Amino acid sequence: MTQTPIRSTSTLRGLRCRECGAEYAAEARHVCEWCFGPLEAAYDYEAIRSRVSHQSIAAGPRSIWRYRPFLPVSGERLIDLGTGLTPLIRSERLARRLGLKALYLKNDAVNVPSLSFKDRVVSVALTRARELGFTTVSCASTGNLANATAAIAAHAGLECYIFIPADLEAGKVLGTLIYGPQVLAVDGNYDQVNRLCSEVADRHGWGFVNINLRPYYSEGSKTLAFEVAEQLDWQLPDHVVAPIASGSLYTKIYKGFQELIKTGLVADKPVRMSGAQASGCSPVAEAFRGGQDFVTPVKPATIAKSIAIGNPADGIYALDIARKSGGSIADVSDSEIIEGIKLLAQTEGIFTETAGGTTVAVLKKLVEAGQIDPEETTVVYITGNGLKTQEAIAPYAGEPLQIEPSLASFERALERARTLDRLDWQQTLV
Ligand SMILES: *Cc1c(COP(=O)(O)O)cnc(C)c1O
Ligand SMILES: [Zn+2]
Repeated sequence: MTQTPIRSTSTLRGLRCRECGAEYAAEARHVCEWCFGPLEAAYDYEAIRSRVSHQSIAAGPRSIWRYRPFLPVSGERLIDLGTGLTPLIRSERLARRLGLKALYLKNDAVNVPSLSFKDRVVSVALTRARELGFTTVSCASTGNLANATAAIAAHAGLECYIFIPADLEAGKVLGTLIYGPQVLAVDGNYDQVNRLCSEVADRHGWGFVNINLRPYYSEGSKTLAFEVAEQLDWQLPDHVVAPIASGSLYTKIYKGFQELIKTGLVADKPVRMSGAQASGCSPVAEAFRGGQDFVTPVKPATIAKSIAIGNPADGIYALDIARKSGGSIADVSDSEIIEGIKLLAQTEGIFTETAGGTTVAVLKKLVEAGQIDPEETTVVYITGNGLKTQEAIAPYAGEPLQIEPSLASFERALERARTLDRLDWQQTLV
């Protein structure tokens, strides 16, 4: 068994295989040599426990790095663009609409620098990449990861290559190009892009944030659990709803809650974990419904491109967590996703992308199915910004009224609009 001793004052102890427990040095590797299981960061929790307190965290940076002892880095040079500590909003109007008493929205649509939760995972991955000596970084992306990697690599002065499926939304392509990486638009879906990138990673020795750096990358998602607990005054919620693409974010939110319990920062209590997928790419929801403990890959066909991963790497772990926590994994159609985007915008003033629409629509579906108790403290993770997926929603958002610059023209338009509203309203009564 490969076991290199780690010399470091950090709490990171190395990597460990999730399946067989084999241990490895904290290098750029992600698959177990013995059983091909995924590798995960391992920590000295006693060291963390003795080092962190509510006060030490509160005194830390106003970013994900306030939770640094829980993150897989060893040096002092952190990449900190202020990522994280996004708002946790107590919902009033959406909660009332759904009949929930304690609904909260974790709003990563306004995360920085690139307006999605991916800024968290990339800040961690590239900090570690630099510690490991990489000067060129890369990723296979469904869009948001491309934006975050390109932006944060630019900030850190790393050379950057981004691989995306060629049919990505324009906002996500532009939101990558602007940072100046080499962008490769691959004629294929995300799963094909990912396969290609595994080959490139082997051959070129670059740091791929979601391939050979994946054990570091994925740990960044735990900050979504830490922040919610801190923002709820160091209480865990009763139930969370989060989107599932590869299943990394969902499983790491769970790991984050467990780590807070393990280190005594919150009281032990169960958190029900529910997951959201788009029906056009819902292999994990299908397996959940079918009572299977394996995930059958699918070919994605949905407007929710940011979560369209047909062969999810952490799918089986997500299934296990949903079942043992008493949560559920459900999927919604593209038209429900559009309704979800509009519902969140029109009740809470938050414009999310298709992944957020998926999560809100699944929340609604779970409430209607009686799977969310109205009294439970429920947190919904809104993971990306709507301005990046405009083509998905533009046809359904309505049109401005075109008028001349005169009061008469305005009054005529207003009358017309009110008549149309009345007709709309009468139709909904039928
Ligand atoms: C990447 C992404 C997710 C979830 O991805 P996982 O692979 O499951 O970690 C969720 N929402 C958005 C907006 C994303 O970009
Ligand atoms: Zn193994």
